[in-house]
Amino acid sequence: MASNPVLVVHGGAWAMPDDMVEAHVRGVRNAMAAGWRVLEREGAALDAVEEAVVVMEDDETFDAGRGSFLNRDGKVQLDALIMDGATLRAGGVGCVERLRNPVRAARKILSESPHVYFVAEGAERFAAEHGIELCRNEELVIAREVERLREYQTDAAGHGNDLFAPAISHDTVGAVALDGDGNIAAATSTGGTLNKAPGRLGDSSLIGCGCYADNLSAAASTTGWGEPIMKLVLAKWTADRISAGNLPEWAAQEAMNYLQQRVNGHGGIIVLNAAGQFGIAHNTPRMAWGLKTVAKEEAGVERGAA
Ligand code: ASP
Repeated sequence: MASNPVLVVHGGAWAMPDDMVEAHVRGVRNAMAAGWRVLEREGAALDAVEEAVVVMEDDETFDAGRGSFLNRDGKVQLDALIMDGATLRAGGVGCVERLRNPVRAARKILSESPHVYFVAEGAERFAAEHGIELCRNEELVIAREVERLREYQTDAAGHGNDLFAPAISHDTVGAVALDGDGNIAAATSTGGTLNKAPGRLGDSSLIGCGCYADNLSAAASTTGWGEPIMKLVLAKWTADRISAGNLPEWAAQEAMNYLQQRVNGHGGIIVLNAAGQFGIAHNTPRMAWGLKTVAKEEAGVERGAA
């Protein structure tokens, strides 16, 4: 069935200050340009979400790839998932420290492994064996984040810094796409939360939590405080509302209500079905988002009932 392509991306949901808006909007627009180049050449949704996410992993504005938040030990530890709505194939990596673009490794797992998920050294080994160059962890660490961690750890000791307040940045990135063949896909990539314990895995790379795609329901990518999102398996919860006949726009908003009311969580979600209907919602003051269709391109930092 021929469809008109649609691409939706996000770059984190939090109380983003005014002076960071421009970089975020530029970042999501660059990501959309990369994803759209795939879709306009009649490429697959799966390739489009991968390319869009790679651009945001490479952009230090976001908490993904180089420039991510540091864990308690001062290291970058990355998680990513990509999922194909046509086949339900998925690939995920967790707690990787030597990959510039974890979504590329996730894609290799999806395409070339009978398994779905690899963690830590095993994930890096799989990536290297499949032609992905490993880097040193120090190459992923930037001065801004060393300073942010130092400030947080100093403040946390004496002032009870609330890591999970919406003011703490959640700059995870994600994309959902519909291609001309009527297939949808989703990808999410993150450095996780600031000062996380080494080995802590958030929602982003877990199937159904931070990312999900099924042609029969929807493709979804979330961002925000990971632990509450995981408890609700929120991406799948949202997709299920859509397969039950609800519009993605309603389901996205309802997911944010559920997150808030059931577990006092905060974050954001993008969701898209195979009919090209989409939803973008957040319960944080802002979320970087972008939308591209054949008819229009939009990007911003506020959407829905924020
Ligand atoms: N959800 C991510 C995590 O908890 C963080 C984020 O969205 O920025 O790992």
